[in-house]
Amino acid sequence: MSINAIKGMNDILPGEVETWQFLEQSAREVFGLYGFSEIRTPVPEKTELFCRSIGETTDIVEKEMYTFNDKSENSLTLRPEGTAPVMRSFIQNKLHNLDPVSKLFYMGPMFRYERPQKGRYRQFHQLGVEVVGVEDAKIDAQVLAMLHHYFVRIGIDSVSLQVNSLGCPECRPGYRNTLINYLESRLSDLCEECQRRYQTNPLRVLDCKAQGCQVATVDAPSVIEHLCSACNDHFSQVKDHLGALNIPFEVNARMVRGLDYYVRTTFELVTDKLGSQNAVAAGGRYDGLVESLGGPSLPGIGFAIGLERLVLMKGDQRIVAEGPQLFIAALGKEAADRAFVLMSQLQSVGVYAEMDYLGKSLKAQMRRANKLNAAFTLILGEEELQSGQAQLKDMADSSQTMVALDAIAGVLTEKFI
Ligand code: ATP
Ligand code: MG
Repeated sequence: MSINAIKGMNDILPGEVETWQFLEQSAREVFGLYGFSEIRTPVPEKTELFCRSIGETTDIVEKEMYTFNDKSENSLTLRPEGTAPVMRSFIQNKLHNLDPVSKLFYMGPMFRYERPQKGRYRQFHQLGVEVVGVEDAKIDAQVLAMLHHYFVRIGIDSVSLQVNSLGCPECRPGYRNTLINYLESRLSDLCEECQRRYQTNPLRVLDCKAQGCQVATVDAPSVIEHLCSACNDHFSQVKDHLGALNIPFEVNARMVRGLDYYVRTTFELVTDKLGSQNAVAAGGRYDGLVESLGGPSLPGIGFAIGLERLVLMKGDQRIVAEGPQLFIAALGKEAADRAFVLMSQLQSVGVYAEMDYLGKSLKAQMRRANKLNAAFTLILGEEELQSGQAQLKDMADSSQTMVALDAIAGVLTEKFI
């Protein structure tokens, strides 16, 4: 019996992977312009890292983590998100000593035990950024401008940016209490889950998908109206800077995030193209996180983009791999041996060359050259071996040029390199 992959975990196959590479390469390019460097952290971390940072009462920690004991009975978790591991590494490696402003990005697989469906998987991939060390609202606007720039670069425009401020340890507890009181008065209208969590995680009720919860919270007190003056100023500055940079956005006072560490600016990039998996990117400020994990008291902000959702949105504008620059069709053993040497020579000077390995007929070899979308073909038979030259055929317009076999590398490097 053959063995299949784990439910909710997908292979990324040739034909699809080109789109992934395009998305990743574009990120390197765009993020590089804003001074971000890549950081790579291990896939598993100590479970405690996520419990302490994401929060014990969040969906991720309560229900979604891939947690297991290793052979020494240490509790490990496959990372469900990237911010906590990056901050762990930041603290452990004292990156703040290298530069007072750290701009980092990462990409890689994340793991959450969720019900698999379109745009929601158990192994999925995030592309994320973090900035540590800046409280100024300019950095919030710059991170959002970079997110906007990235989407322009990859050619996805059917997204809109929603921003909110969740306040800080000064003003959020007051708002939280006001919200709990409000929810208490409407408890019977809330779904079972929200009835259970309205005291431990009241903000989450605001973005519950259940109809009853949405109706019951239409007039819920707004977090924005309960900000302290420092948070209010900060949020106004973020909006002003976004305006100055012409970054389109709307304020969504009901947007909360599913992770406890967020304060002040939070945001989501949403689309109406993916059903209920409508968030393609999300992030915000986490000013207390570094300190709570045992590091210096430094503010931070970041976002994560879900790559599977981007690939779905690219849909039929997928990126197609380039075909060979030359396909050599050979007739007979001697010609195949000569073609093999020529192919290797071309590859070693940087020309993408292909040939047939299966002893196929000339017709079948030409079919393959077409299928691979070769730019040029060359037919090698007895006659060509003897004369030392062959017809180089340009597949775009079918024109042919006689070229000496020894000169082919030169001709093709001239054309392609
Ligand atoms: P959602 O509300 O869709 O569950 P989330 O708030 O849990 O998203 P975050 O933790 O903020 O998501 O992660 C950032 C991004 O990662 C999301 O906007 C989404 O694009 C992507 N993402 C999150 N969970 C999954 C998943 N299980 N499968 C695929 N992509 C995901
Ligand atoms: Mg989720």
